[in-house]
Amino acid sequence: MITINENYLKLQASYLFSDIAKRVAAFQQNNPGRDIIKLGIGDVTRPLPPACVEALHAATDEMANEATFRGYGPEQGYAFLREAIAENDFRSRGADIAADEIFVSDGAKCDTGNIQEIFATEVKIAIPDPVYPVYLDTNVMAGRTGAFADGRYQGICYLDSVKGNNFVPDLPTQPVDLIYLCFPNNPTGSTITKEQLKTWVDYARSNKALILFDAAYEAFIRDESLPRSIYEVEGAREVAIEFRSFSKTAGFTGTRCAYTVVPKECAAFDSAGNKQLLHPLWNRRHCTKFNGVSYPIQKAAAAVYSDAGKRQVRELTDYYLRNAVLIKKEMTALGFVSVGGDNSPYIWIDGQGRDSWEFFDMLLNKAGVVCTPGAGFGKCGQGYIRLSAFNSHENVIKAMERISQALQ
Ligand code: PLP
Repeated sequence: MITINENYLKLQASYLFSDIAKRVAAFQQNNPGRDIIKLGIGDVTRPLPPACVEALHAATDEMANEATFRGYGPEQGYAFLREAIAENDFRSRGADIAADEIFVSDGAKCDTGNIQEIFATEVKIAIPDPVYPVYLDTNVMAGRTGAFADGRYQGICYLDSVKGNNFVPDLPTQPVDLIYLCFPNNPTGSTITKEQLKTWVDYARSNKALILFDAAYEAFIRDESLPRSIYEVEGAREVAIEFRSFSKTAGFTGTRCAYTVVPKECAAFDSAGNKQLLHPLWNRRHCTKFNGVSYPIQKAAAAVYSDAGKRQVRELTDYYLRNAVLIKKEMTALGFVSVGGDNSPYIWIDGQGRDSWEFFDMLLNKAGVVCTPGAGFGKCGQGYIRLSAFNSHENVIKAMERISQALQ
């Protein structure tokens, strides 16, 4: 008899985006002709930078010519892209990362979801709350979380990210083995200082733990004192894996390209307590289950590191940051306290005692603006909403005018 992986039955159905869609549809039905502005989604809206488009076209032409056609490429990514990443994203900032420590992939979602496969089922997981749901759900599927009761999985150590700790979780008070961190954070938009990150690296080193650091929003950091990579912290090479993505950096959400860094010293332990390096393990996993990102897409990603690409990526992220600054300014003027929006495209707004969905309904019904209710990202998200800067500047201006008029 074929049986299922019953861990899948423990997954909590995510009604978040379907509930949002239902409420938006009901609003449209009751208010025909009223247009809605969506500041809820985490998807980008601006087109690819011209340097990337040019590289994509040129690479497509190469694929059309017998002399330059390419079939399967290296699973880990072409050297031209891995070299450009190592040089520009790490070595130029004093982080010692080599090209062969970089694994190019088709998304940070897949990588942050798949990485748990190389660890034992018994490891104790620490996951922030609120959180990008992929970290949690992939561990539910793997059977690491225990049962769901009272709004939480009983086997998970939740790292509360709340006003009291300025949305940067405190070190766990119980022993944990695998720690997920994401900065700049989705959904809160909070950032972490080098000193704070060092306390996590030191914790991992002294407790034989490992940090999975998701830096998908690194390109939005403008405060030069903030770390862009965990490898800017001394000692991190032994205890941290980092995830990056071209999705939000360069508008690749529909084009798909990302990468994961596994330093050669990074290690975990076998059941006998012997140190086992993770680079060969992840390499084996990656090469067995993944066949590489297409050549034209890798060429487009490499163009991010050309002079023109760097300038255009900066303009692109500046565009969204201008939206974020405006959202934050207007919400502050209306008396709302928020975090994020300065080095991040997300603004996490305290509903001042309102339930997340009540706040959502108020913005939808009074202003025709769609946000994301914070409760959808975890228990600690209750009472908050997330506004996203991923929309046109004109729409953001209009949305904020409508919110101001509606709430004043
Ligand atoms: N990590 C975080 C924190 C995200 O918010 C997202 C996308 O929203 C991803 C990873 C996924 O990135 P990718 O498009 O590379 O799969």
